[in-house]
Amino acid sequence: MIQPFYTSSAINRQGDYRNNEKLLKNIIIEKNTKFIPYYKGKNLFKEINKAIKAVIFNNDQLYELFSNGIGNTIFLGVANGLNYIGIDLSSTNQKLDLWLKDNGIIIDDLRKYGPILDDIEASFLALSNGMFFWHNTNKFCGSCGFQNISTEGGFVMKCTNKKCGKSHFPRTDPAIITLISFKNKVLLGRSPRFPDAMYSTLAGFVEPGESLEQALEREVFEEVGIKVKNIKYFNSQPWPFPASLMLGFFAEAINDQMTIDYNEIEDAHWFSINELKSLQHPSINGGFKLPRVDSIARRLVDTWINRFN
Ligand SMILES: [Zn+2]
Repeated sequence: MIQPFYTSSAINRQGDYRNNEKLLKNIIIEKNTKFIPYYKGKNLFKEINKAIKAVIFNNDQLYELFSNGIGNTIFLGVANGLNYIGIDLSSTNQKLDLWLKDNGIIIDDLRKYGPILDDIEASFLALSNGMFFWHNTNKFCGSCGFQNISTEGGFVMKCTNKKCGKSHFPRTDPAIITLISFKNKVLLGRSPRFPDAMYSTLAGFVEPGESLEQALEREVFEEVGIKVKNIKYFNSQPWPFPASLMLGFFAEAINDQMTIDYNEIEDAHWFSINELKSLQHPSINGGFKLPRVDSIARRLVDTWINRFN
């Protein structure tokens, strides 16, 4: 199996630490602890010897920049014997802003650099981003409206209303993504939200009470009017941008007659292997692009092409 991006097997989330407040407090002040910065929905990067690296703080650097105390933290886990803590640096801090400027720090979306980063770091960044997105959108209890506080290393947001006290857990939205084939061609489409000229496999969110297979059948029929058979699970890709889990499938079309719903997608075509390899299609002027290399859509397409090699 191809290892999905942002899921390094070298990481242990060490869930057993989350209930141990004393241990977590010690980790935060420990010298070797690594801090993964989250900055207004983005991350920090630096070019070192012409390579892009993620900026990860050690304790001394962090306390120098935040002499009045650090912000919200989340215990992310352990890798190679080191503890990793996510830290939200989004609140205004002149010292930090100056440091970012003086050190030529790049503030950008993880997805831009994810595929070229160290696997462990990229995985911690993705986890941290998903967690802080959840924290920042769950400051108040959804049941009673009182404020929530972060507990259990950040993995539980607990309501402060004594009469309620509800615990809230991080949510992940499942989405199916599927490569539809008919004989020796595959169906790719594009949404108006996609980068220019990019064509990808069809995808959609799973609705309550729906199986993955039903979600797949529904989405494909809604978007291109095609019925499918032989649905086969491929693998999954966490996509915490901000909160999805992509579940990849292969499926076969019953026939190749498409009826595109232009409210759902902008365009779709059947592509032969040669067209996929040459990135040229008779109905697309100037060629097309495949999805980014860290996406499950790309792995579905590449896996399908390799079957014929
Ligand atoms: Zn509540």
